[in-house]
Amino acid sequence: MRAAVLHETGQDKLEVLDDVEAVGFGPGKVKIRVRATGLCHSDISAMNGVLPQPAPFVPGHEGAGEITDVGDGVAGLSVGQRVLVCWLPACGACPSCKRGQTQLCLAGFMNAGTPNFKRPGGDVFGFAGTGTFAEEVVVDAGCAVPIPDDVPFDIAALIGCGVTTGLGSAINTADVAAGSSVAVIGCGGVGISAIQGARLKGAAQIVAVDPVESRREAALKFGATEAVAPDALGDAKQRITAGEGFDYVFEVVGKSATARTAYETTRRGGTLVVVGAGAMDDVLQLNMFELFFDEKRILPSMYGGGDVLTSYERAIALWRAGRIDLESLITHRVPLAEINEALDQMRTGSALRTCIEI
Ligand SMILES: [Zn+2]
Ligand SMILES: [Zn+2]
Repeated sequence: MRAAVLHETGQDKLEVLDDVEAVGFGPGKVKIRVRATGLCHSDISAMNGVLPQPAPFVPGHEGAGEITDVGDGVAGLSVGQRVLVCWLPACGACPSCKRGQTQLCLAGFMNAGTPNFKRPGGDVFGFAGTGTFAEEVVVDAGCAVPIPDDVPFDIAALIGCGVTTGLGSAINTADVAAGSSVAVIGCGGVGISAIQGARLKGAAQIVAVDPVESRREAALKFGATEAVAPDALGDAKQRITAGEGFDYVFEVVGKSATARTAYETTRRGGTLVVVGAGAMDDVLQLNMFELFFDEKRILPSMYGGGDVLTSYERAIALWRAGRIDLESLITHRVPLAEINEALDQMRTGSALRTCIEI
């Protein structure tokens, strides 16, 4: 079957090959025919080494499709069922799951060193244990989450990562207060979803911050009350908050420089929400005086910071009711053969989300 493979970490192009086989099928597993997959910024971060990931590997972790085979011992899933791929399934039994923080469950990462694919040249891994830039994947049954019939594959794929991450950061992690002021730094698919979440929670001002003009224009359509380039953020802070800083600032880039800006743009006693996935060697500096004296709350948000299955259901309900716009998040559609064009669209910032149709 066909899959897009990164041969070595640091390369910027994928090779679409047709000699790849999804491996590991057996008890507790399901096989999925992938139909749509979103290109998330984390895929690029895994390719360039910002996020740890063994290579060669098939990127992609935001996907949806149909189940084609069900392993022994799997309950509640059947062949033909439409599912989205959850890259962080909760085991239900570990200390994190037991205390209700299922988004911190590490059970799904236990297979990280196990290849998900093979080809004549050898073993191939799947990003985050999935690897949805492929026609077929084999995953733990917990990674296959059934979706209602009225949810198209492309929308379901987005809910599998970016939408859940962004919406959840505003609704679960920050629990944005009605009437508050919000700034969102980084307005790709996740940032736009954070904007939609802040709007749903009743934020009075939502300032979108992004260097790319098309993204700033898009942010206004999704609920931002104004959109500025990064060098105009200081002015916006002055104008909108009288210099005090925003009640909530969302960092959706994953860099220490933008996190530092976000910290400085948060008001004393306000909340900095860290959503972007950054590198282990990129260190955010805070001095001990400001940390204590300004009492800013720093809240990291992993996969939306709540139970992901609950977050999926909420996203579907909000989408179905027309309260969030997910269709417009998909600005580009390409077949798997044009995956490298999709990567370029992501790098230049011209895409909010590119849907790869497989
Ligand atoms: Zn993602
Ligand atoms: Zn667990």
